[in-house]
Amino acid sequence: MENIILKKTGSSGTIAIESYIAQGGYKGMERAVGDMTPRDIIDEIKSSGLRGRGGAGFPTGMKWQFASLDPKFPRYLVCNADEGEPGTFKDRPILEHNPHLLIEGMIISAYALQSSIGYIYLRGEYPHAKRVLETAIEEALARGYLGNDILSKHFRFNLTVHFGAGAYICGEETALIESLEGRRGQPRLKPPFPVNSGLWGKPTIVNNVETLANIPWIVSNGAKAYASIGVKECPGPKLFSVSGKVNKPGVYELPMGITLREIIYDHCGGIKGGRPLKGVIPGGISTPILSPESLDCPMDFVHLPKHGSMLGSGAVMVFDDTVCIVKVYERAMRFFEHESCGKCTPCREGTAWMRAILSRIEQGKCSENDLETLQDVAENIAGKTFCPLGDGAANVLLAAMKIYRDEFEYHIKNKRCKVNAA
Ligand code: SF4
Repeated sequence: MENIILKKTGSSGTIAIESYIAQGGYKGMERAVGDMTPRDIIDEIKSSGLRGRGGAGFPTGMKWQFASLDPKFPRYLVCNADEGEPGTFKDRPILEHNPHLLIEGMIISAYALQSSIGYIYLRGEYPHAKRVLETAIEEALARGYLGNDILSKHFRFNLTVHFGAGAYICGEETALIESLEGRRGQPRLKPPFPVNSGLWGKPTIVNNVETLANIPWIVSNGAKAYASIGVKECPGPKLFSVSGKVNKPGVYELPMGITLREIIYDHCGGIKGGRPLKGVIPGGISTPILSPESLDCPMDFVHLPKHGSMLGSGAVMVFDDTVCIVKVYERAMRFFEHESCGKCTPCREGTAWMRAILSRIEQGKCSENDLETLQDVAENIAGKTFCPLGDGAANVLLAAMKIYRDEFEYHIKNKRCKVNAA
């Protein structure tokens, strides 16, 4: 498959606007703004089958249509660049090396949505990306690709980078909106959904960086060509950030529906030292771990749930037989405890409680009924939290306790790690 998203991404530097244009960049934007109506573009995106790449996998064209049917103005376009989940670094090459792909995608999207104001909500830990994006926005303004009369077509779109303060929950779209409005980043009750009542109560589309980076290619090459990539239910390319015990970790652009086996063994050079695979987290720390039996599962929004997990952000984390699963989930719960926004009790108290029990188990200071208590706490959090963070924390732990129960039991019985004892 030819690279679509990483095509112009030079790993050694950032693509300046001249190089981007020389390689065919901004042609999709010229076609969209010059020859197409907003309705044409929304129809094209709907036909392409593009689904949001932030984790939820909602059809992008349908989301755009909901917003475009709302008569309120102004409409806001927000790029979710708050990439903060452990293992997830797929958007970083676009933000740091190919900013014009994102900007072009946002201009086309804004035209389709008749939005005049856009924000890139950027992860606070990406200061280099901030400098790159701000320079690229200046370049696009100087060329007349952003501003008050784009391509002399009376189309107005201004774009601003908003730097986050490093809170994971601000990747959740309503918490992100709260943060953009200047308040503490905590999720809002839905409905109403942001497409109808988002920033300052106006229709707001929040799309992930990778989603927006797909738009120029779809407009330039057509929905049919895009729909022919990957699997029918989830077409297109997907960025996978692969980390852990593989020979060649990194960001890979591969067709949606590729199997975990192909990613790990064909593209990432297999497991380091040829050791046995113990488990894989397929989509970031908030997606349930899979055992090696699921290696042939297609990586997409439809097939992974049938194996008990989710595609999430496409952050593949690979563990070999030297990894202690209890330790992995103790670290994971530390993350969730730290990032819980504190709004609802099951998550605020529950993540801390799960972490405390796991710490006891890992340190060999546990009592015999700790596993039962841990299971009970997790089951009482799952499905009872305000947003997916608490729910996700409980569910990933429950999945790990089910698949690797013997390892948890060994820790409790012997007060030490089974992996290190082997
Ligand atoms: S589940 Fe956690 S992160 Fe989500 S609202 Fe409740 S406390 Fe905040």
